Amino acid sequence: MKNIVLFGPPGAGKGTQATFLKDMYNLVHISTGDVFRFNIKNATELGLLAKEYMDQGDLVPDEVTINMLKAEVEKNADANGFIFDGFPRTQSQAEALDAFLADKGEQINGMIALEVPEDILVTRLLERGKTSGRTDDTDESKIRNRFNEYNTKTSILKNYFADQDKYYGINGVGSIKEITERIAEVFDAL
Ligand code: AMP
Repeated sequence: MKNIVLFGPPGAGKGTQATFLKDMYNLVHISTGDVFRFNIKNATELGLLAKEYMDQGDLVPDEVTINMLKAEVEKNADANGFIFDGFPRTQSQAEALDAFLADKGEQINGMIALEVPEDILVTRLLERGKTSGRTDDTDESKIRNRFNEYNTKTSILKNYFADQDKYYGINGVGSIKEITERIAEVFDAL
């Protein structure tokens, strides 16, 4: 199996790139943000809970998120591997993912991080907000809060994966195609 964490701050292009990569490498793409939004749309219990946090740009609590992620992996028992997009976002999530995969005799092969300066990210998110219908993309204070969550809880995961020699930083500025090519070079070597 090939299991990749696609990493980066909000607006880095993780979702966009995952859409291409999953087809190129025949992997299952799991975006925790997409799963939460699906649950919100369908007014499930999980959706109602997640909405309170997402509307503010706060992270959803670890336990809820980890259980949901595990369920998504279990639904795809025949997968060739996974692209994890938006997960893990905290140290506990990273540890839970490692333990969960180890139980299956699997592991994360690499974390591919899209590196983009913050001013470009804000512009991209506000632009996306015009069409995405996402309230967390339209309000600059919510966007700032999402960066704050990223900087205080998520960005440390760079060290977590670097310590395992699994961190691969990619320049996330350029055309979508250029960035896919940069990621593919790393993917092919993993
Ligand atoms: P995203 O679509 O990845 O930008 O995620 C949108 C929102 O969903 C985030 O701002 C969080 O509120 C929530 N979310 C997504 N993934 C996670 C996660 N791994 N841990 C906690 N909250 C998450």
